[in-house]
Amino acid sequence: PADSIALGRGTWRLLHSMAAYYPDKPTVEVQNDMFAFIKIFSKFYPCPPCAEDFRNWLKSHTPDVSSRSGLSRWFCDAHNEVNVKLGKPEFDCNLIDQRWKDGWAD
Ligand code: FAD
Repeated sequence: PADSIALGRGTWRLLHSMAAYYPDKPTVEVQNDMFAFIKIFSKFYPCPPCAEDFRNWLKSHTPDVSSRSGLSRWFCDAHNEVNVKLGKPEFDCNLIDQRWKDGWAD
């Protein structure tokens, strides 16, 4: 449905942008907060079947909250998991900063 497409697009924008602005060297408190955010997000993402699949994926893919680059890669992998499920092409995670931090025309 159109709503879930717009919701997904907007949510990925938020999540990848949060990762792009995450510290290179986060304190333990910041790491714990990001870890908690992801867990809580996975409970409240307002597409119940999407959220359930995401929670299942989380069980075998612990969030890498150790650095900006690690978190960015982790969200890229999470997004690619959904891309594959939906039959979309995988995104090249080496391009994550161009897309979500430094910017390119899209
Ligand atoms: P989107 O997938 O929304 O991507 C937006 C932009 O992000 C792309 O144009 C591209 O520039 C960039 N991008 C693409 N892949 C990556 C990547 N791997 N890393 C970084 N940037 C990337 N929809 C469903 O139908 N079923 C589901 O189960 C489902 N689960 C979801 C779970 C979560 C946690 C989220 C946030 C969304 C989920 N969605 C799901 C929505 C779905 O992922 C898309 O957002 C939606 O289909 C719209 O797709 P889109 O083609 O506009 O691009």
